[in-house]
Amino acid sequence: MIKPSRIERALTLLALAGLLLAACQATMSPPDAVPTALPVAEYGWWNDAVFYEVFVRSFYDSDGDGVGDINGLIKKLDYLNDGDPATNDDLGVTGLWLMPVMQSPSYHGYDVVDYYQVGDEYGDNDDLLRLIEQAHARGIRIIIDLVLNHTSRQHPWFQEALDPGSERRDWYIWANEQPEGERWRESAGGYYYGYFSDQMPDLNYENPAVTEEMQKVTRFWLKDMGVDGFRLDAIKHLFEDGPVLEHTPATHAWLQEFYLFCKEINPDAVIVGEVWSTMDDVVEYVGGELDIAFEFELANATLESAVSGRKASVERKQQAVIDTYPPGQFATFLANHDQNRARSRLLDDEQAKLAATLQLTFPGAPFIYYGEEIGMQGAKPDENIRRPMQWGPDGGFTTGEPWRLYYEDYQERHVAGQSEATDSLLNHYRALVRLRNEHIALRQGDFIPLESDCRPVYGYLRRHQDENILVIVNLAAQEQTGCTLSLAASGLAHGDYAVRELLTSVEMSTLTANENGGFDYTPSEAFAPREEYILLLMGD
Ligand code: CA
Repeated sequence: MIKPSRIERALTLLALAGLLLAACQATMSPPDAVPTALPVAEYGWWNDAVFYEVFVRSFYDSDGDGVGDINGLIKKLDYLNDGDPATNDDLGVTGLWLMPVMQSPSYHGYDVVDYYQVGDEYGDNDDLLRLIEQAHARGIRIIIDLVLNHTSRQHPWFQEALDPGSERRDWYIWANEQPEGERWRESAGGYYYGYFSDQMPDLNYENPAVTEEMQKVTRFWLKDMGVDGFRLDAIKHLFEDGPVLEHTPATHAWLQEFYLFCKEINPDAVIVGEVWSTMDDVVEYVGGELDIAFEFELANATLESAVSGRKASVERKQQAVIDTYPPGQFATFLANHDQNRARSRLLDDEQAKLAATLQLTFPGAPFIYYGEEIGMQGAKPDENIRRPMQWGPDGGFTTGEPWRLYYEDYQERHVAGQSEATDSLLNHYRALVRLRNEHIALRQGDFIPLESDCRPVYGYLRRHQDENILVIVNLAAQEQTGCTLSLAASGLAHGDYAVRELLTSVEMSTLTANENGGFDYTPSEAFAPREEYILLLMGD
């Protein structure tokens, strides 16, 4: 796999699409309508964003029916980002990923019955338009979950398709005799393929009518609703090829076409993919099919190192990420709505702070799962990792009965309390997001790992043009003394750098870069247990 080839192929396709369009329009349209090939930036706006994954049902309930809704989310926008960079009592996130908002019979929404309507319990399309408008006014972009692989069993398309004589029959995947494998589901008129469950029949993308309809859906959300992109669910499963159920060439080819389709509608739309696989499989989708995809291996390694106090997992995996992906083109996270919550895998808030520091000072586009910033807990089943947000000592999510109970620690762990406590996990997240928003080195800088003579101390330089930030964390629960962080060479100019710690504004000892831009740096006599430094190097 050679990364540039995919990008080059995408560029070629883009150029071809542009030429074809130009050729058509040359005869059909006035000259000023001739489009040019789309520019493909190395970094997109998503690299400057911090995303927040919202389960609308559990975020905030505006009308007391116990179910979170779009109007509730609008009410809480100031918590997420009040639009004023000078304030520091908001989280500062600049992107929201809304888990499915389309009409669905299930609580989670991943089985859609109407791709053109916001679900009744969440509100209506006008509410969503208002959310997008008010989010944009605060500098927050919004992407939504798009579930392409399957519909609900209750979708009218599938209900029609149940009839073997129906024109819709071929929108789904059928067999007369039961094929091998447990993913074939019985119905009166034959067996249908449903990868995830009998309630989620897979759409048949061999049928061009299905692709055409989903392009219509896509255009509707990008153009009429004005969303800023999509998070594509379960995208590795689009096409099957006999026993091969994921990553098929047909899936890759379809995604290339879909990507171009989206970018023609809105070149700024971001396409984020869920490819729940190994790094080597994920990267095959990045560039030309997806802008970014979630980096599952790095997420697990980050949590592992925060728990064990040993850096090997995260250090190795982060290096693999740097060696594998185009610079910055991956989405970082700690846990999502399909996994036990990060705080339930971490042992205490100090470990949660370390994991957050790593994630938010790493390259890539970071995604925070709602509630992660206050250390909300929850382990499977799924409903328990998607519980109501803990806003205050009474829960504060609804005036009615919440659709699902809060996690048991809700009276002690909540937004209101953590807003007051200066050393809370929430205030740590606020500080980290603010630093990331303020410093391009953290968002787009090169990632240069440092040598450390203390085994649990992990350090790296983030470097963007003239901005240089060192991140140094002691992962261990034990003090480390006399640790020196070293770099053989870098682009740093020769000379002395005053050093300021950005979380506390404390002045640290001066760093001297040699003529190769290398250094041996001992920031302090001793690192306290799980101490972390984010250090800005200031030349003269
Ligand atoms: Ca409600």
